[in-house]
Amino acid sequence: MTWLVLLLIAMFGPAGDDGGARRDGASGVTIPLEPPGADERGPLPRVTRARGPNPPLVVIDPGHGGRDPGAASPFGNAREKDITLALARAIRDDLARFGRVRVALTRDDDSYLVLQDRYEVARRLGADLFISIHADAAPLNDQAHGATVYTLSEVASDREAAQLAQRENEADLIAGTRLSPDPNVNLILIDLAQRESMNVSADFARLLYREAAPVFPFRPDWHRFAAFVVLKAPDIPSVLFESGYLTNATDAAYIQSPQGQRQIADGMRRAIEAHFARRVVVDRRG
Ligand SMILES: [Zn+2]
Repeated sequence: MTWLVLLLIAMFGPAGDDGGARRDGASGVTIPLEPPGADERGPLPRVTRARGPNPPLVVIDPGHGGRDPGAASPFGNAREKDITLALARAIRDDLARFGRVRVALTRDDDSYLVLQDRYEVARRLGADLFISIHADAAPLNDQAHGATVYTLSEVASDREAAQLAQRENEADLIAGTRLSPDPNVNLILIDLAQRESMNVSADFARLLYREAAPVFPFRPDWHRFAAFVVLKAPDIPSVLFESGYLTNATDAAYIQSPQGQRQIADGMRRAIEAHFARRVVVDRRG
């Protein structure tokens, strides 16, 4: 190798840890990544690159992690925290491959995050959409199956939804923290922003069902409401996606299988792309 080649590599070749791209072992996809970001609160997760001016950003949140395993499956002892990470990565890789939307994950390893930190990451990154990925469990009803999309409401749609929110919100108690409203913020403005976000979140929930229901199974009552802490970013449309039931044999096998994960990623990607395509039209009209 000549000095010129070495010089060119030094100038234009791989820089930093992975040179702005990473080959993903699981999917074999090379994911183009923006340089690592940071703000005054510390480092931020890396964001995938996308084409075009100002591509929108979606933050995918793999539920649970670290010392919080989430629900457990009686079939093969699968843990929710591993399934949510695999699903989130599959969705990110699919979106990165099509390159219309930028994506970041709140966690890309088996780390523990309190619920508030999950949506704070999305806020610090300036995300346009936040999707928390989970897997459901109904230990007393092994017939319960299918996906559900939850959006925020202080009033749960039914008792089961309220119990699920309570279970998912318990992740914060592991770290001994609770959501405390900041006394310095203008609560009325937050309330208005939250209402607008809740409407857009419900629009996205309908779009997800429209795009994904032909691809993978949903519950008959597929859109439900509950007070999930992780959905409380007032200014970012947010949904919590329960991908299926770990306590149902068919669902558990499906959401752990490469084919199931690919199909869920495909449905999710199409809904996310359609959501932003629609928002651009609305913004231009407005
Ligand atoms: Zn969960």
